[in-house]
Amino acid sequence: MSFELPKLPYAYTALEPYIDARTMEIHHTKHHGGYTANLNNALQGSAWEGRSIEEILQSAGAISPAVRNNGGGFYNHNLYWEILTPGGSREPEGVLLDAIRESFGSVAALKEAFTKAAVTRFGSGWAWLLLHDNKLVVSSTPNQDNPLMDVAEVKGKPILGIDVWEHAYYLNYQNRRPDYVEAFWNLINWDEVAGKLKG
Ligand code: MN
Repeated sequence: MSFELPKLPYAYTALEPYIDARTMEIHHTKHHGGYTANLNNALQGSAWEGRSIEEILQSAGAISPAVRNNGGGFYNHNLYWEILTPGGSREPEGVLLDAIRESFGSVAALKEAFTKAAVTRFGSGWAWLLLHDNKLVVSSTPNQDNPLMDVAEVKGKPILGIDVWEHAYYLNYQNRRPDYVEAFWNLINWDEVAGKLKG
């Protein structure tokens, strides 16, 4: 049994003009594809072969750097493609909206906190909205780490994440990471985020 690169539920062109097709294609086929292949290679013959990706990541402190980095890369990109959707301008609603208001006061305040985490993450990494002790919080992680990992500064269940590696935006935005983070807010699949909060 090995992990498989998922097919995207939309075309590479679908997120334009916010994320360009060339970035999407390279990101999915080369970067995510690379993490997936390297994860499978690193797991082969190891004690972690056959475990779920969540189980593996929860033991990040005990696994090899190759499994930690590529396992994180595999999981993080799965989540990233899932929480993006073309043409979405919908807002969070229902239980998710209630939880956001309880933790942050408003969607605008969440956006501000999330944007700050994404823009100020030094170098490569991710910013997250996660469920931590039954409360929504924002955090960021370096490299391909994520909040599921036992080594994460803020641990919990990620329900929204943004990739701030330069490969996620450089072709279109070059050094302008804040513009990419701003554009990301036009693409969020809030139904999917709500599903992750429930599930
Ligand atoms: Mn990436």
